[in-house]
Amino acid sequence: MRVRVDRTKCRGHGVCCVNAPDIFTIGDDDHAYVENEVVAPGREEDALMGARNCPEQAIYVH
Ligand code: SF4
Repeated sequence: MRVRVDRTKCRGHGVCCVNAPDIFTIGDDDHAYVENEVVAPGREEDALMGARNCPEQAIYVH
């Protein structure tokens, strides 16, 4: 599974970082990013939850 953030849509709410701080990080520009697009084994559900709960629908999981 892979996850990425469309930083042009991200508004920096930080919801994703609260739910899965080991997957999502807020950068110095107040937009979220993922350090590693490949989701670690066992972390798939939190990556999906981040995508579901993003108010801007800026997170893509595939
Ligand atoms: S929840 Fe969505 S809009 Fe908010 S910081 Fe995360 S990716 Fe950006």
